[in-house]
Amino acid sequence: MADAFRALVLRQQEKKTLSAFEQLTIDDLPAGEVLVRVSHSSLNYKDGLAITGTGKIVRNFPHVPGIDLAGVVEHSDSPDFQPGDAVLVTGQGMGERFWGGHAQYARLPAPILTPLPDGLSAARAMAIGTAGFTAMLCVLAIEKHGVTPADGPVLVTGAAGGVGSVATLLLSKMGYAVSAVTGRVAEQGDFLRRLGASEILPREELARECKPLESERWAAAVDAVGGQTLATILAQSRYEGIVTAVGLAGGMDLPTTVFPFILRGVTLRGVDSVMCPAPLRNQAWARLAQDLDMTQLDALTHTIGFDQLPAQAQAIIAGQTRGRVVVEIN
Ligand code: NDP
Repeated sequence: MADAFRALVLRQQEKKTLSAFEQLTIDDLPAGEVLVRVSHSSLNYKDGLAITGTGKIVRNFPHVPGIDLAGVVEHSDSPDFQPGDAVLVTGQGMGERFWGGHAQYARLPAPILTPLPDGLSAARAMAIGTAGFTAMLCVLAIEKHGVTPADGPVLVTGAAGGVGSVATLLLSKMGYAVSAVTGRVAEQGDFLRRLGASEILPREELARECKPLESERWAAAVDAVGGQTLATILAQSRYEGIVTAVGLAGGMDLPTTVFPFILRGVTLRGVDSVMCPAPLRNQAWARLAQDLDMTQLDALTHTIGFDQLPAQAQAIIAGQTRGRVVVEIN
């Protein structure tokens, strides 16, 4: 085991968050049952908020960010894990309450670790990460609601982002006609078509004031944007449709009315990946390992070195990254 290792450390100075690479020792890590040697992490929107200090994600400083990690158990005080086990963690307070995956080592409570699914590499597990896992939670909710491809098109917003690109890929492979909403039609339209989107809509088409009810269009939706966009989706949902609300990339308000609910029976289904219970978590990972086209996953993934993480954190908040960003922790 290395005496010292590299970590991205967040500190607060005069209420500003500062990030810098530091050398830590194993003794610096908070207490926990399992010590993991991290090989890969990822960059999610929430990591961007934490690293840049744009959002109130981190509870205590100093802090190591990173809501996702994959690696190998180095030491375990838990009977559930042995040294050498390949594991992954997404969410569950990591990178918020617990120190996270943007370090070469992490010490964590055993219950938040998941064995790496058979056949899935650490790099691909992180290409999926919280964003891809959340996309699968949306797909499972849409399926559970009984929506089939014959019921009509499914809308995906923030489509060129992490949640949106994996949702587009999963839903199109399952036979749904996917309408992908993006603010980058010219730049990312072809990318989204390659993922299987059958229609590309500019962001402004949804992010405008809407009537309480508009023409019925969507059998289901995956919304990473929130705000006016989510209100417009609700107003355009088909009778008994479902809208899975995941994110707030466009705002945290929701200027809607009760009409979509009481006149069309529309379901607004919140999706949370952080506290998602273990049975659903395991089901989602099993389905990802089984259903996700790994070649297409590679195509929507951009791999960066550890050094590039702070700059990429700025880029994700500026809406400039595409698909998923995997971080090689070296
Ligand atoms: P990304 O940054 O990868 O994707 C977000 C996408 O949203 C962007 O790529 C962009 O897509 C679009 N977007 C960005 N800014 C705006 C804006 N101002 N108005 C409208 N659209 C915008 O983030 P993730 O995919 O990692 O996360 C997406 C959202 O989901 C975030 O809000 C995140 O916090 C949330 N989230 C929630 C989870 C949960 O458990 N509920 C889990 C994971 C994520 P385009 O360029 O195509 O328009």
